[in-house]
Amino acid sequence: QNSNIAFIGLGQMGARMVNNLIKNGEKPKVYDVVPEAAKSLKGAIPCSSLEEVVDGSKIVITMLPNGKIVKDTILGEQGILKRVAKNSLVLDCSTIGPQVAQEVFNAAQESNVRFLDAPVSGGVVGAQAGTLCFMVGGAKKDCDEVEPILLHMGKKVLHCGKPGAGQITKLCNNLILGVTMIGTAEAMNLGVKLGIDPKLLTDVVNISTGRSWSSDTYNPVPGVMENVPSANNYEGGFSVELIAKDLGLAGDAALGINAPIPLAAMSHQLFRTMITYGLAKKDFSVIYKYLEGAKVQ
Ligand code: NAD
Repeated sequence: QNSNIAFIGLGQMGARMVNNLIKNGEKPKVYDVVPEAAKSLKGAIPCSSLEEVVDGSKIVITMLPNGKIVKDTILGEQGILKRVAKNSLVLDCSTIGPQVAQEVFNAAQESNVRFLDAPVSGGVVGAQAGTLCFMVGGAKKDCDEVEPILLHMGKKVLHCGKPGAGQITKLCNNLILGVTMIGTAEAMNLGVKLGIDPKLLTDVVNISTGRSWSSDTYNPVPGVMENVPSANNYEGGFSVELIAKDLGLAGDAALGINAPIPLAAMSHQLFRTMITYGLAKKDFSVIYKYLEGAKVQ
């Protein structure tokens, strides 16, 4: 069976993005190291190797945990660069370091394969609803060409510039995200401990200057909102280990140019500490429980 789109990495984000491709009439070939992840996606073509998934595909999308895995998957011995047809378009939607994205771009160019870094914002809620924002680095014409497909999974495609520019933009966004989530959790914990109802506090913040995505879309306090990880014991969503990774990447990028990022550095250390407390796989809004001093199973 053939399909023009191959999708690799079917986790929290990838599986939902594939479902939206299917809803919009595509029939992607899909692959994940966990075979059940591919088999459980109705309407997709499950594949059991990288070789099989990219065979005959003109567009390959990766949505993987980190830069090392992205590099292995694209440039490695069994990697897709050796297997895709010339002039194919490989799009990495994972959040990885800008330098790794540039490295992959250069290697792809040498193999006559087109590459775009296209990380996303919007979280699992946005991935589910098909409202992601894609931040794209690489050739503008490649970005324009793939935009209709990206719009099956998102509502906005922004070309940010040279290879790696999508990742730089994404890291800056996630720096704000990590810091504001901690600030929101800190304030909510303070308010609740001083006797204010968390729903009321949220309503006030959301029409006031403290509002952010962390308060109005992804509130960290259980019971304030439905369909967010805090309503589900912090399962699913955006894991503590992934935000810690992104803040570390922001730190690396900042060191390279001596830009000070004091709050991001402190946020990074807080999320890293939470990992040592066994919270790596929980959604990052679990910082609320951590500050509250509560045990989370
Ligand atoms: P996840 O851990 O839920 O999913 C990653 C998937 O990749 C898993 O299914 C895993 O089995 C698979 N995988 C790992 N190694 C593989 C390999 N070698 N070959 C094939 N598959 C492999 O992660 P996620 O939350 O879906 O995030 C994916 C990427 O998107 C990360 O870079 C993350 O930073 C970024 N991101 C996540 C969110 C979010 O809210 N979860 C939001 C925006 C961006």
